[in-house]
Amino acid sequence: MNIELLVRPNIKSLKPYRAARHEYSSGILLDANENSFGSVISFDDVELNRYPDPLQGQLRSKLASLYGVQTENIFVGVGSDEAIDLLIRVFCEPGKDSIVILEPTYGMYRVAASINNVAVRSVLLTDDFQIDVETVERTVDPTTKMIFCCSPNNPTANLLRKEDILTLARTNSAIVVVDEAYVDFSSERSLVEEIQYVPNLVVLRTLSKAWGLAALRLGAAIAQPTLISYLLKIKAPYNINALTSHEALRALENLSAMRATIAEILMERQRLAQALADVEYIERVFPSEANFLLARVERARSVYEQLIQRGIIVRDRSAEPKLAGCLRITVGTPEQNDALIAALKDIQP
Ligand SMILES: *Cc1c(COP(=O)(O)O)cnc(C)c1O
Repeated sequence: MNIELLVRPNIKSLKPYRAARHEYSSGILLDANENSFGSVISFDDVELNRYPDPLQGQLRSKLASLYGVQTENIFVGVGSDEAIDLLIRVFCEPGKDSIVILEPTYGMYRVAASINNVAVRSVLLTDDFQIDVETVERTVDPTTKMIFCCSPNNPTANLLRKEDILTLARTNSAIVVVDEAYVDFSSERSLVEEIQYVPNLVVLRTLSKAWGLAALRLGAAIAQPTLISYLLKIKAPYNINALTSHEALRALENLSAMRATIAEILMERQRLAQALADVEYIERVFPSEANFLLARVERARSVYEQLIQRGIIVRDRSAEPKLAGCLRITVGTPEQNDALIAALKDIQP
């Protein structure tokens, strides 16, 4: 399959902006109208007066080794949210093309498509929150350029079956995006290892969850080099700022600290799931492969509001399809979880 055939013609023929720092980044730099005298503040060894590397060579190479791919397989964005937006802009003709999403799921796919005037076709997950492959196949038509799969899925917390995702990629000439924001908390391996065999597969990863760096705003799209080249072509030249790059590189040296946090979160997830299951008005705690739990609760809105009165904020997902009465609860620290459990025991729904 040739993914070039899926790229919007205007993007294919686009002449990208060539930034000064594409050309040179050392020497007597008088090419970019930067402030040659420096900046009013200094920050370690980051030259804040200079525009940063538009291709993020160091950062992409570091992430490539973390994910077991090559630098040309990596795009870095301002969170995975930027990658979602740019993917839609590479492949979907506004007012004409469509995407398929598998609901209930992360809200940004629908929002990013709608901003770009791209139609959204929703296919519901099955009752056990897996992909209804047949219905997806019936929903896809020649205007469908992308299928978004979130695994582990937010907010249902489960993994989608790998085989189903790969089947969708094999049988459709659409880009299949697998959002793996939570894969670091799961028992399964990432689908990143499949990208070498599947040209229309894109895997999204982020530093926002397992790495604890939501404020840094850094996410990655991982795919074959041709697809990545189109994301690089249309991104803002300096989308990742020098401080973010610098701090991300520093963070990525701490793999063992990241793993230790994950281990703690998994222990607390187990403990919290048990404690929630023991609350009499909680009907069901769904199995979780992420850093949050989905629970079906009697009179969910009342419980949600009473938690807020006690200063504890969870997410009410009960308006989503298939999620009547469901609250999504992020796994907290032991103290935060204790406070939540005590509050839940105290509440009369
Ligand atoms: C939290 C989350 C992300 C992370 O988005 P960033 O822009 O990288 O912070 C991506 N996808 C899903 C499903 C999420 O829940």
